[in-house]
Amino acid sequence: MGKNELECSFCGRKKPETNLLIAGIEAHICDRCIEQAHGIVAEESKQIKNDDLSSELELKKPIEIKEFLDQYVIGQEKTKKVLSVAVYNHYKRLLQPKDKENDIEIQKSNIIMAGQTGTGKTLVAKSIARMLNVPLAIIDATVLTEAGYVGEDVESILTRLLQAADYNLEKAERGIIFIDEIDKIARKSDNPSITRDVSGEGVQQGLLKLLEGTKVNVPPKGGRKHPDQKFIEVNTENILFIAGGAFDGIEKKISNRLNMQSVGYSASKAEEKIDQENLLQYIIPKDLKDFGLIPEIIGRLPVLTHMNPLDKKTLRSILTEPKNALIKQYEKLFAMDGVAFSITDDALDHIVEKALEYQLGARGLRSLCEMIFTDAMFELPSSDETEFKVDKEYALKKLSFEQMRQLKAVS
Ligand code: ADP
Repeated sequence: MGKNELECSFCGRKKPETNLLIAGIEAHICDRCIEQAHGIVAEESKQIKNDDLSSELELKKPIEIKEFLDQYVIGQEKTKKVLSVAVYNHYKRLLQPKDKENDIEIQKSNIIMAGQTGTGKTLVAKSIARMLNVPLAIIDATVLTEAGYVGEDVESILTRLLQAADYNLEKAERGIIFIDEIDKIARKSDNPSITRDVSGEGVQQGLLKLLEGTKVNVPPKGGRKHPDQKFIEVNTENILFIAGGAFDGIEKKISNRLNMQSVGYSASKAEEKIDQENLLQYIIPKDLKDFGLIPEIIGRLPVLTHMNPLDKKTLRSILTEPKNALIKQYEKLFAMDGVAFSITDDALDHIVEKALEYQLGARGLRSLCEMIFTDAMFELPSSDETEFKVDKEYALKKLSFEQMRQLKAVS
C-alpha cells in the first residue's frame, strides 16, 4: 500500500485528507477521530465523577438525620425535626433523575432559623454539613453590601463556598451556605419608599437570585483585589441555604399579632395557651416581613423554624452530653498527659448557674471552664499527678468575682 493510500481505520479518510494520521499495530487513526474520541472520554469521566459524588452524598432518612443531629445539638427538638425533613427533601430533589417528560419540579427547601445568639444555629448548620459530607461556608450577612459599595459583594458568598470545597466546583454546587445575622439586613423603615437603604434592602435583592438558583460568575479569589482573575461559573440551583438571625424585638410583633388574633370570642382560651416566655415558637413568615425582610426573600426561605432559649437543664446537658461536649474534650486533653480528670455534679451545676447568672449563654460555658481548668492545665503536664478532681469548692475558688466581671465585660 502506497503512503498516500493509508487511511484512518475509524472514519476511512485517506491520509491526504487528514492533518495527521497516527499508526497503531494494525490500524491508523486521524487527528479528527482522536479529538472526537477525546471528547467522549472527557464526557464519560465527568459522568463517572458525578455518579461518584452522588454516591458520596449519602441520603439518610429524616429520622436518621435527626439522630445524627441529636449527637451534637441538645434540645431544639422541633427545629431538628423540621430541618431533618428539609434537608432530606433538598437532597432528594438533588438526586432525582432529570425526568423531562413528567416534570414535577421539587422546589428548594432553603431554611431560616430565628433564635437568640448562642442557641445553636451555627452548630446545626455545621452538623448537617458534617453529616452530608458537603462543604459549608458560614457568612455574616452584616459584611455584605450592594455591588459598588464598600464591603463584600453578595457573590463573595460563593467564593467562600468554593474555597471550602477546595475549588472542586461540583462539590461546591452541592454545598451548604449558612448566612448568619440575616436579621441585620432587614429594611430599617417600615415604609419601603422612603429611601433606598444600602446595607439592607439592596443586599436582600442581591441575595434573591442566589437563593433562587442561578448561574453566577464568581471570582475564585474573591473581591476586587485581583481584578484580572478568571471567573468560575457557579450554579446555585442545588446549594442549600440556611439563614439564621436573632431578630431582636420580633417578640413584640409576634405578641401583637397573637393579641390581635385572640381578640374575639375564644380570646381567653387562646391567651391561656400562649407561652409568653418563648414567643419565638409562634413565629410565622408575616412576622419576618413586619421585621423588615422583603417578601421575596421570605418566599425563597420557605422553611421557617425557631431556636428555644437555653434553660438550665439544656446548658447542663451541653456541658457533658454532645459527642464533642466540653467536658469530654477536657477529659481527653488531660488524658493525653496521663491525668485522669473528673468533675463532680455540683461543680457542673455551679458552672451552669454562673453562665445563667451572668447571661453568658452556651458560649460562656467554654470561658468558665477555661477559667477553672487553666491553672491545672498549666501545672499538671510537668508534675507527677495522675488525677485531677474538680469539686464545687475548687470551681468556686477559681471563679473569682473579679474574673467573672471581666467575663461579663467581654461577652
Ligand atoms: P448561634 O449560631 O445560635 O449564635 P452557635 O451555634 O454558634 O450559636 O452556638 C455557640 C456554642 O454554644 C456552640 O459552639 C455550641 O457548643 C454551644 N451550643 C449552643 N446551643 C447548643 C445546643 N443546643 N446543643 C449543644 N451545644 C450548643
